[in-house]
Amino acid sequence: MNGSEIPDDFIELEKKMEEASHNRAITVLTCPDCGSTNVTYYMGLKTGVQYQCKDCDYVGTFIIEQDKE
Ligand SMILES: [Zn+2]
Repeated sequence: MNGSEIPDDFIELEKKMEEASHNRAITVLTCPDCGSTNVTYYMGLKTGVQYQCKDCDYVGTFIIEQDKE
């Protein structure tokens, strides 16, 4: 009896999952006016879906991608 021994396969899988989550680029909407990430969807009539900054009320179709590591 060794108690609760975790198989090597499981540890390997955990490592791979952690690597994948670290390498994944997360898209973050950032306001070009004030740099806030407090951005919400804003429905435009002719322009389609836009985004609105909750901090400065800027409305536009801005999407800025940031890679978080
Ligand atoms: Zn803003």
